[in-house]
Amino acid sequence: MDLLGAHVSIAGGIHNAVDRGVSSGCGVIQIFTQNSNQWKGKAVSAADAQLFRDKLAASGLSHVVSHDIYLINLAAAPGEVKDKSLIAFKEEMQRCAALGIDKIVMHPGSHTGDGEETGIRRICEAFDQLFAEVPEFTGKVLLENTAGQGTNLGYRFDHLKSIMEGSSYPTRFGVCFDTCHAFASGYPIAERDGYRRTFDEFDGALGIDKLMAFHLNDSKKGLGCKVDRHEHIGAGALGLEPFRFILNDPHFKLVPKFIETPKGDADEMDAVNLKLLRSLVEG
Ligand SMILES: [Zn+2]
Ligand SMILES: [Zn+2]
Repeated sequence: MDLLGAHVSIAGGIHNAVDRGVSSGCGVIQIFTQNSNQWKGKAVSAADAQLFRDKLAASGLSHVVSHDIYLINLAAAPGEVKDKSLIAFKEEMQRCAALGIDKIVMHPGSHTGDGEETGIRRICEAFDQLFAEVPEFTGKVLLENTAGQGTNLGYRFDHLKSIMEGSSYPTRFGVCFDTCHAFASGYPIAERDGYRRTFDEFDGALGIDKLMAFHLNDSKKGLGCKVDRHEHIGAGALGLEPFRFILNDPHFKLVPKFIETPKGDADEMDAVNLKLLRSLVEG
């Protein structure tokens, strides 16, 4: 089973993402289920959902995950942004239920100056409300580790742990591990020893089985830079080694892995980056 793929566009209809994934050589795909620059998404009609499900079943793709839109901030203080975020995430869960997508990758959010503890508490409360309000979504929310830019939460594994532990639905969470964000936030995964220490820390904080997806991105900037800038695989500050470690780590053999690297003018770079990653798989 090939568990390597990319984030692909849904332009022209959600079902088109399946074709784009296949033509770029993906075995798995990640999508936004709505326009990522707008608060208001379109509901998925029964016909849209059926078309997507039929195409997916015929495609050979083994996993589809969704990514929430970046406007959403569930750690925001009570007010307009928080209200819009709750509605948008609720609609995300509803669309995923309709499409048969059982994993939503999300950025934990930003406390915007109110402090990390307060931000984490707000995220827990938001998910308690969301899981109760959308019982038709029976899948998992994958908290993504972040680069630690500004007041963003999620740049330490302990943040992700606190969100799960503070939730009334702890089993509904997993983690999406982004290599660029981890390195930018200070986890030294580029060399063997730092890689081992990083995943030992992950295992200690969360349990390695909580790691349910990877974002494989190289980083334009260096270790601990706190800047989120993705680069082509092997062309950034990470280089090829950490990708070789992950792709040959028996713990992660069954974990789907998505690139979010620059796509080129006609998405042609996805195939290039995926081919390079596949060349690192040993045995
Ligand atoms: Zn990511
Ligand atoms: Zn990023």
